[in-house]
Amino acid sequence: MESIKAPRGVRDILPEESWKWAFVLDVARRTAEDFGYAEVHLPVFEHTELFSRGIGETTDVVEKEMYTFQDRAERSLTLRPEATASMVRSYLEHGMHRGVQPVKLWCAGPMFRYERPQKGRYRQFWQLDVEAIGAADPFVDVEIIALSLELYRRLGLSNLEVKVNSVGCPECRPTYRKTLRSFLEPRLDELCDTCRSRFDRNPLRILDCKNPQCAAIADQAPSVVESLCGECGTHFGLLQRGLEGIGASFSLDKRLVRGLDYYTKTAYEVLSGDLGAQNAVCGGGRYDNLAEVIGGPHVPGVGFAAGIERIVLTMEQQGCFMGSAPRPAVFVVCPDEEARPEAFALLHLLRQSGVAADMDFTGKGMKAQLKVAAGKGALLACILGSEELRASRLAVKDLESGEQHLYAREEGVASIRSLLSNKGISRKDD
Ligand code: ATP
Ligand code: MG
Repeated sequence: MESIKAPRGVRDILPEESWKWAFVLDVARRTAEDFGYAEVHLPVFEHTELFSRGIGETTDVVEKEMYTFQDRAERSLTLRPEATASMVRSYLEHGMHRGVQPVKLWCAGPMFRYERPQKGRYRQFWQLDVEAIGAADPFVDVEIIALSLELYRRLGLSNLEVKVNSVGCPECRPTYRKTLRSFLEPRLDELCDTCRSRFDRNPLRILDCKNPQCAAIADQAPSVVESLCGECGTHFGLLQRGLEGIGASFSLDKRLVRGLDYYTKTAYEVLSGDLGAQNAVCGGGRYDNLAEVIGGPHVPGVGFAAGIERIVLTMEQQGCFMGSAPRPAVFVVCPDEEARPEAFALLHLLRQSGVAADMDFTGKGMKAQLKVAAGKGALLACILGSEELRASRLAVKDLESGEQHLYAREEGVASIRSLLSNKGISRKDD
């Protein structure tokens, strides 16, 4: 029988890599907390309608990329392709709109999109999602962008580019849509098939088409910024002043759009110069009409989502510090079967006293066990065999210097801890 493999486009994050993820997620958690955002855990699947309405029927995600299935009661459910709609759903469902605003939340977890797998693009991928719901103030937009940039600063990322735009609001966007349509109409033949079909349904989406010919036309198109109403213009001005105020370098990108009615005002993206084609490390913006679209009252909101795989890839490429792989401080070496209960008890005592410790379970000889200890990066090998048992002793070998120490058994754990603390390794909970 052929062995079963993981589905196309999904990856196992193996021990060689998982500690890097833990590092990134840990920095993300602390950054979010420093900015006053609280963690939520959201479900991985929701009613399909939440996404079709909350992301938009005419988006690529909803049209082509969702993992939708029927459960046994024939409800249509979908594996979440993003977290914003869930976050707003949760905010409304739990009456958070009745408390102090804005409500600032974050979550991290896997998202699912049926896309063509390639480097930096998977069918299951992780996002860090950060949302501020319930305030229209442009400085909340500034805070969201600032939070993402502070995260990247703490992670040591460089060579990033911030692009911002405003997509207006239902007040001013119809005017822009008209302007854009009259610009595009005479060039319709030069657009790709997808863009031709977007012309009627969602012409703004033509602006971010990746087809080079469409992109060249989009570059010539009038900018949405020139059509903004007074309120959106003021908001966009304050956003830029706020970003200048914190010394963030950014550029305006008139082709950056979200293209749906409930995405309003600010749109932004952070791009990595080291990623090639899949170069967006995060994207976000304002969605003042989303809550209404999913059946709630009018609640403004703004947020971003960052791709964890792409952050890890960029950090590896740039040689950023990512912590280190966990390793045992002590490896208990037991060359004789008869000493195993005592050796295992020592291992357990070490662990209970907060020392990362491990041992061999495959009946290897002394030399082979020492080799495994070194291979796992242990600092000390603690030898407890028949000989040590009879003499009520413990032999401790410093695997860095090769030095050997002998201790009385009852002093074993204390002696090991003091050896480790001389090496600068303290107990995790000290
Ligand atoms: P892209 O233009 O790369 O398709 P997007 O506009 O679809 O991105 P968003 O929906 O804004 O992306 O998601 C935010 C972030 O999530 C992206 O900036 C990226 O870092 C990450 N991301 C999106 N899709 C994937 C994917 N299929 N695999 C890995 N990361 C992804
Ligand atoms: Mg995409």
